[in-house]
Amino acid sequence: MTTSTPLNPALTSWTGHEGLPRFDLVKDEDFAPTFEAAFREHEAEIDAIAGNPAAPTFENTIVALEIAGDGLSRVSSIFWNKAGADTNETIQALERDIAPKMSRHYSKIGMNAALFKRIDTLWEGRQSLGLDLEATRVLERHWKGFVKSGAKLAKPEQERLAAINEKLAGIGAKFGQNVLADEKNWVLFLESEDQLAGVPDFLRDAMAAVAEDRGQKGKYAVTLSRSIIEPFLTFSDNRELREQAFRAWIARGENGGDTDNRGLIAEMLALRAEKAKLLGYENFASLKLDDTMAKTPAAVNGLLMQVWEKAVARAREEEAELARLVADEGRNHDVMPWDWRHYAEKLRAEKFNFSEGELKPYLQLEKIIEACFDVAKRLFGITATEKKGIAAYHPDVRVFEIKDASGKLVALFLGDYFARSSKRSGAWMSSFQSQHKLKLKNGAEGELPIIYNVCNFAKPAEGKPALLSLDDARTLFHEFGHALHGMLSNVTYPSVSGTGVSRDFVELPSQLYEHWLTVPEILKRYAVHYQTGEPMPQTLLDKVLAARTFNSGFATVEFTSSALVDMAYHTAEVTTEPMALEAKKLDEIGMPKSIVMRHRSPHFLHVFSGDGYSAGYYSYMWSEVLDADAFAAFEETGNAFDPAMAARLKDNIYSVGGSIDPEDAYKAFRGKLPSPDAMLAKKGLAA
Ligand SMILES: [Zn+2]
Repeated sequence: MTTSTPLNPALTSWTGHEGLPRFDLVKDEDFAPTFEAAFREHEAEIDAIAGNPAAPTFENTIVALEIAGDGLSRVSSIFWNKAGADTNETIQALERDIAPKMSRHYSKIGMNAALFKRIDTLWEGRQSLGLDLEATRVLERHWKGFVKSGAKLAKPEQERLAAINEKLAGIGAKFGQNVLADEKNWVLFLESEDQLAGVPDFLRDAMAAVAEDRGQKGKYAVTLSRSIIEPFLTFSDNRELREQAFRAWIARGENGGDTDNRGLIAEMLALRAEKAKLLGYENFASLKLDDTMAKTPAAVNGLLMQVWEKAVARAREEEAELARLVADEGRNHDVMPWDWRHYAEKLRAEKFNFSEGELKPYLQLEKIIEACFDVAKRLFGITATEKKGIAAYHPDVRVFEIKDASGKLVALFLGDYFARSSKRSGAWMSSFQSQHKLKLKNGAEGELPIIYNVCNFAKPAEGKPALLSLDDARTLFHEFGHALHGMLSNVTYPSVSGTGVSRDFVELPSQLYEHWLTVPEILKRYAVHYQTGEPMPQTLLDKVLAARTFNSGFATVEFTSSALVDMAYHTAEVTTEPMALEAKKLDEIGMPKSIVMRHRSPHFLHVFSGDGYSAGYYSYMWSEVLDADAFAAFEETGNAFDPAMAARLKDNIYSVGGSIDPEDAYKAFRGKLPSPDAMLAKKGLAA
């Protein structure tokens, strides 16, 4: 190494419990120099691989690449964890600096001609290398990755591509920060009973805690965090306040001034289209879909429109029912977006005679976590034990050891459940360290997965239990499904470990896992009242289960409109007026005026805060087709925990990561390809 700054051991050599980072030793000011050193270390490793005088072999090229950059991936994983889950101004400034550097670093590797030549030689001669299936896929991915990074382009085009990638990374980081800023900056403090009409106790408590947190003790805060705004829109009887809050919520990123994202969207779309053309694709969507299960924009739009028509028809029926409730109250107005949740809740109460508020005392965070672990034990034979007293990256974060049936430690799991202002909104899974079996430079044979879940549940007042909505409980199961994908991974190569699968397949393990939350025996055991310990009454349980398709027209319209707009952006001619394109698309598909996209463009983080789900938001639904069909496999056995089916699920889906083609993996589990029928039936949208 030709550097005077050593890698900071707290960031790159982890000596905490079972290889956990020593978070207590991490200092913000150490990131910048450690990143610099880690970039140089990785560069030196790449140069050594590319300049190796020996003929290329799988071992000296692909395996060497797989284990290179260890320091960089460690400092990155700690940094991006902090940027998402516990940020501050120093980290944010650094993020704007690091994101483009990271992009430049990887672009440079992707355009290393000598390195690509070795990989290309291996790829062309792959038949004679004697590689197994997993190794062949790993080789293919490296090769394709290089081609998409511009390895086959002429020098000036390569330089333009690098510049585009760097710009995109910088704009994406700014986009996300703008949304967070708009979320943080808007708060509405309520005081009078008139303003709080309809607001149930659990929400009052949460709003009081936030107000106190913001120095307004004794008042109640409405914020734009999903865990506050959604129940507020649901329960508040004050239509004016609902409208005010709703308008602020959907205006995130569109408020003018420094945090306005509209200009950034136009810039990103132009850059993405240019990038696709450079790489020989018709548009950005075609580029992004190339290595997915769906493969083409036509296949995606085909599925979305098939669902859209059924969803809009159902939403119109739902709206008519809500309009009746509005009229029953003697009011004379259309159902507007700030009314929908409110009247839907009333309709739910009328139809099923229970409210979300009635459900909540039975959904204790602690019990739902236990339920999550119990399902994993029944299906996959693993157990979770909390290890107290281990410093994680924030005092709220809990550390668990995950062991298999023989008692062997197979993973570490970190759960970070409560909202705080330093955390971005939403819920996600990520890893500090991924499972693999390669021998590392320090002599270690493979690595233990260290996986974490971040959620944004409202933190209860001191001494009160955290109670969840049914949606929150589903989110917890969803993210734990992703975590299992990381923790049960059993592959050789890091690049195909766990969630290293195509985007339209990655939501299968998470969305499938949600099904077990509402399996009656799980609800009966874990959905118990926080004061009496009584299980949720059977009548309530029956209604909960019957209510699963309630309001599905609304939810499907919210989602599908966002997915269709995402596809429109990335297949249409480039426009400087992205908001006009959004409006045009919504008009063309007949968006009901009573419903707003789940994510309007100026705060559509999935699509614009990075590349992850651009031309890819559809993939949640694609995965839903898969998860409904996969759970039907268990239902067909008559046992939600059927051991043979669970074993096939683990062996072909949860443990294989990206080591197998997703279509083949699915067929090996299910015996056939999925059809959308089970999904449409599950949503109550079947013809
Ligand atoms: Zn997910």
